[in-house]
Amino acid sequence: MKSERLRALLPDVWALMRPRRGLLLIGFFLMVINRLAGLVLPASTKYLIDDVIAKHRHDLLLPLVLAVVGATALQGVTSFSLTQLLSKAAQRLITDLRKQVQAHIGRLPVTFHDSHKTGVLVSRIMSDVEGIRNLIGTGLVEFAGGLLAAVVVMVWLFFISVKMTVVAIVVLLAFSGVLWKAFGSIRPIFRERGKINADVTGRLTESLGGVRVVKGYHAEAREESTFGAGVQRLLDNVLKSLTAMSIMTLSATVLLGIVGAVVMYIGASQIFAGTLTLGGFVTYTAFLAFLIAPVFQVVGIGTQISEALAGLERTREVMRERPEDQDPNRTVSLGPIVGNVEFEGVTFAYEAGKTVLHDINLTARPGTVTALVGPSGSGKSTMIGLVTAFYKPVEGRVSIDAVDLSSVRLDSYRGQLGVVLQESFLFDGSIAENVAFARPDATEAQVLEACRIARVDEFAENFPMGYDTIVGERGVKLSGGQRQRVSIARAILADPRILILDEATSSLDSESEAIIQQGLSYLMRGRTTFVIAHRLSTIRRADQILVVEGGRIVERGTHATLYSQRGRYYDLYTKQHGVESNLFLAPGEGDSVEVESLR
Ligand code: ADP
Repeated sequence: MKSERLRALLPDVWALMRPRRGLLLIGFFLMVINRLAGLVLPASTKYLIDDVIAKHRHDLLLPLVLAVVGATALQGVTSFSLTQLLSKAAQRLITDLRKQVQAHIGRLPVTFHDSHKTGVLVSRIMSDVEGIRNLIGTGLVEFAGGLLAAVVVMVWLFFISVKMTVVAIVVLLAFSGVLWKAFGSIRPIFRERGKINADVTGRLTESLGGVRVVKGYHAEAREESTFGAGVQRLLDNVLKSLTAMSIMTLSATVLLGIVGAVVMYIGASQIFAGTLTLGGFVTYTAFLAFLIAPVFQVVGIGTQISEALAGLERTREVMRERPEDQDPNRTVSLGPIVGNVEFEGVTFAYEAGKTVLHDINLTARPGTVTALVGPSGSGKSTMIGLVTAFYKPVEGRVSIDAVDLSSVRLDSYRGQLGVVLQESFLFDGSIAENVAFARPDATEAQVLEACRIARVDEFAENFPMGYDTIVGERGVKLSGGQRQRVSIARAILADPRILILDEATSSLDSESEAIIQQGLSYLMRGRTTFVIAHRLSTIRRADQILVVEGGRIVERGTHATLYSQRGRYYDLYTKQHGVESNLFLAPGEGDSVEVESLR
């Protein structure tokens, strides 16, 4: 990681550590005690050999052994408390961060979600956050403790033999330089790994989620090769870092050999010359390990920290995105609305320069049904997206009861909005939970009432578990019509002022169709309804039909007036349904005729 990027991350690292600085300090303190206690055993060896054994000082043996036992006990206790304190704190940190990142991502605007793969976001929440743990866990503290022990030991080593120590330190410093360089080359590999991981998981989530489409188009082999290529990239990345790591281990081994040989040579010469005792020599070799340990630790800790920083950087990217409700323009809190929706000169583009809606003007009065019809890609869903405030107009304004929607706090608005989509979205939960989704505080009686109106009761009560039947991921165990009934019940329970309907294009059998129509008519009553309409019955019943083409409203009026105008609507309509024999059927009659699509 380049140093300026590292610097940019420091405030975030500090923000994570700050609330836990007391804990980290205690951890460090414990680590110091732990390391110093660890020095007692090798240090006592010198006294054992040179004083107790060589000079036959029986009286010193017991105190020395007791000191070693005490120090070992201290080491045990401190290392246990360290794990308890720091590792647990690190796990709590992950949990907190995951909650934060998930909450944040959930509040980001639809435009953000439109341009980010689900799987990538999942990996932001789960894996990247996991990496950050290393900043708080035992790793850093252990490294700091190791460094401190090394410094203490170094002073000691100088006392025993200046010559040996100077040589050892020179070799170690040279090696640290090599390691530092090597790390510079590994870090980008780690950063890359996180990205590849997210890409691969992202694609995998999509292909598993869309398993029906994959199978339908017999595209299993293509998905296999896409996934294969993804994991291959991951493998290449891991292999690259493994090579770098093994070069490090190799040079570390060589280093140990060199230092060992040098110490052996100088140490033996000094013993011959009488400037070093045998005990001093044994202690020296034992201590040397303490000096070398941090150099090795750098390898492990460096990897962890690289991972942590890379994870932090990616998490930070997401956290910098502004949640929709933090928009400073959204200041108006709506009370209960009547539901008068108005578009005034609305122009919209997803990408600058590519206008999707041109100068749209419309009024949807409370309690009326506005049907949007027109070919695919004409802009119907985009208009709906503006009503739900997923998007903001580029020009003009969308208003609710004369309040500009772009100034409205979303929490005060969306609660009064109900949505029933083509692909009825059911969660992995019970039927009752799915119905109560929009109003978790609803009483059982209210849920049952909504289910009765939407005719969910007819099938739910036949299941052995009744309303507690789990509908599986996306409600796979329910038929299309049953899923729609559940989502109609959900909307009835939510009792929204404004209702958005995206009618299914797929046909249902005429009985289910009739049941769903009844549910929908109940649902639409007294609300401002926008419907992307495909069903004849809905279109006939609409108070106004807007014919959308190329992002413009080309015709508007009721079925009867538009039909008699013989314009675009007439063309679209007769292409699908032939010329109508009785134009003035009462709404509801002829409902069983399925409008395949006006597209
Ligand atoms: P309809 O609902 O009538 O089928 P849409 O409103 O979905 O049409 O699309 C209108 C136009 O906007 C199309 O040209 C489509 O390609 C484009 N479009 C839709 N969604 C997006 C998006 N998220 N980003 C960019 N362009 C989009």
